[in-house]
Amino acid sequence: MIPGLELIVSAAYFAAAVMFIYGLKGMSSPVTARQGMIWAGIAMLLAVVVTFFHPKVEGNYLLMIIALVSASGLAWWWARIVAMTDMPQMIALYNGMGGGSAAAIAGVELLKVHSGQAQLLPTTLMVAAFGAIIGSIAFSGSLVAFAKLQGWMKKTWRFPSQQLINLIVFGITVLLGLIIFFVGPNPFLLVLFFAFALTAGILITIPIGGADMPVIISLYNALTGVAVGLKGYVLEIPALMIAGIVVGAAGTLLTQLMAKAMNRSLGNVLFAGFGKADEDAVSGEASGEMRSIDATDAAIQMAYAEKVIIVPGYGLAVAQAQHKLWEVTQLLLSRGVKVSFAIHPVAGRMPGHMNVLLAEAGVDYEMIHDLEDINAQFPTTDVALVIGANDVVNPAARKDPSSPIFGMPILDVDKARNCIVIKRGQGTGFSGIENLLFFEDNTRMLYGDAQKVAQQLISGIKSLG
Ligand code: NDP
Repeated sequence: MIPGLELIVSAAYFAAAVMFIYGLKGMSSPVTARQGMIWAGIAMLLAVVVTFFHPKVEGNYLLMIIALVSASGLAWWWARIVAMTDMPQMIALYNGMGGGSAAAIAGVELLKVHSGQAQLLPTTLMVAAFGAIIGSIAFSGSLVAFAKLQGWMKKTWRFPSQQLINLIVFGITVLLGLIIFFVGPNPFLLVLFFAFALTAGILITIPIGGADMPVIISLYNALTGVAVGLKGYVLEIPALMIAGIVVGAAGTLLTQLMAKAMNRSLGNVLFAGFGKADEDAVSGEASGEMRSIDATDAAIQMAYAEKVIIVPGYGLAVAQAQHKLWEVTQLLLSRGVKVSFAIHPVAGRMPGHMNVLLAEAGVDYEMIHDLEDINAQFPTTDVALVIGANDVVNPAARKDPSSPIFGMPILDVDKARNCIVIKRGQGTGFSGIENLLFFEDNTRMLYGDAQKVAQQLISGIKSLG
């Protein structure tokens, strides 16, 4: 080995870790997010390149190159063709891959101990087993989340004594981990251990549906980070440890934020079996009728309003209507209307989904407000324009104790003087329940694809001169 190489490798890993942290800091604001991504990308490239010089990988170069080329090629191709609406699934899948690779590496290290190729200190062995559990759960759980978001799976799957069975499966996984620790790993034990850990991930995720999915997705993000961090400890690679810990910490904060947005504790989401707002739930029985409005009248209402609040949701992403919506906004602003955007933390299908769309369209950041900041403003708002949002504006969360989303903070658009809802038809939101908002006296439904309707609003406002 070249003298001093080990030191250079360590220094490069350290530099990569610092760049990861810097990159992540950049991602905390939409203004610096792109730059943050670039820094994190450079850090990743450096960490990958320097790994070729790591003393432990001698002789494995061909395998590494095959893995790198095929995986990067696949990721590059997929990222290019993926529709914006499928991004949440893709992220869930990538999340799972991180957890899965951490678990696989832990498995390989444990096998090496069995074959005598490696000797792990008891603490390291424990960390490897723990990382394997967390990584496996994050992997199989994320795959289930992917299947749900892709529409391949029922959103909620329940069977009798589910929580008890989940607990038993998880308990056996931990027990097998302890046996491996005390007795030492062997292939049979390891297969059993991983089979139970993967099953635990599936079982934990299948009952969670409805509006609780964002919490579980961010939890798996956090678990993947922790698993990668533990893997870094086992392999003695500080960059991996730091990157994993940073992702784990950020993911934990995000999980807390999402749970707070749903007004649930994490324990509730995982064990209370709610999110029952799915195929099997009939709730939010609405009385009254829905009244529609056409785009010309809606344009007039907004153009002569003093204050308009726009609430985007998943339908905006489906329609890719963000650019047209920004055009509508600019026209309103030029007429002296005060316009703001209200974003619910779980709007869309991934954390920050709406922020990304609005940033892409060029919406000024100062115009975008969080739920807590803007809710008090609805009663003094002339028009609340709901565009492709549904669950996040459902007053059943406030008014109907029998509703599965009861207690979840929503954007109080029903308190505005007038509310206009743009959607294509009678489709429900992700949670699958009826929306009481659509039947309120002050609500008017503006039917159509969000992009087409936004174009009609543009023409309508322009025609007013
Ligand atoms: P919803 O999923 O509640 O509703 C979206 C609405 O958009 C639908 O009712 C649909 O009605 C309408 N729509 C769809 N396509 C179009 C289109 N082309 N033009 C106009 N309207 C359209 O969205 P929200 O953003 O309000 O809520 C997000 C939901 O997703 C929450 O339940 C949340 O818990 C869940 N979720 C969020 C995640 C996150 O991280 N943010 C992750 C996983 C789940 P119609 O068919 O009639 O047009």
